[in-house]
Amino acid sequence: MSMTLPYLEPLVPRDPGERRIPEPPRRGEEGGPPCRICSGETTSAVWSDENWTLHPPIGGSLPGAVWLASRAHVDSFCDLPDELAADFGRVAARVERAILALGGVGRVHVYRWGDGGAHFHVWFIPRPLGMLEASGMMLPLWEDALPNVADEELAAAAKRVAAAM
Ligand SMILES: [Zn+2]
Repeated sequence: MSMTLPYLEPLVPRDPGERRIPEPPRRGEEGGPPCRICSGETTSAVWSDENWTLHPPIGGSLPGAVWLASRAHVDSFCDLPDELAADFGRVAARVERAILALGGVGRVHVYRWGDGGAHFHVWFIPRPLGMLEASGMMLPLWEDALPNVADEELAAAAKRVAAAM
């Protein structure tokens, strides 16, 4: 299959920017914008339990992508109480299994960026089966470069993930 990506800007080499220290506050940090999760500005959860909520993305190219957030307002892995950190492993395995059950998925990648909001959340992104050029760190780049699908399609896929949890 050949595909052109006419909407891509040409790549322009650039030097690293000046370092900004201290870094600006993230969403949910003092002095920063409010936490979107706590203020209910995110997509509705398609699945939840007493510790976690699972959400579809808005604006994405890979149906089956979901993000998992802690109900507790904590920031990083190292802020999770031991019991919640252990529970993360249990729930992450369920999410991965549920995404694989969609079919057509080569691997499920798990990303924890943490630069946008000060609230613990992790992305699960399916690498399409056979799309080896999207292996490893290339998957989020391809996810960004490919045309977005409708948000309704992302939400529908996330509901199928939720149903398989
Ligand atoms: Zn929050």
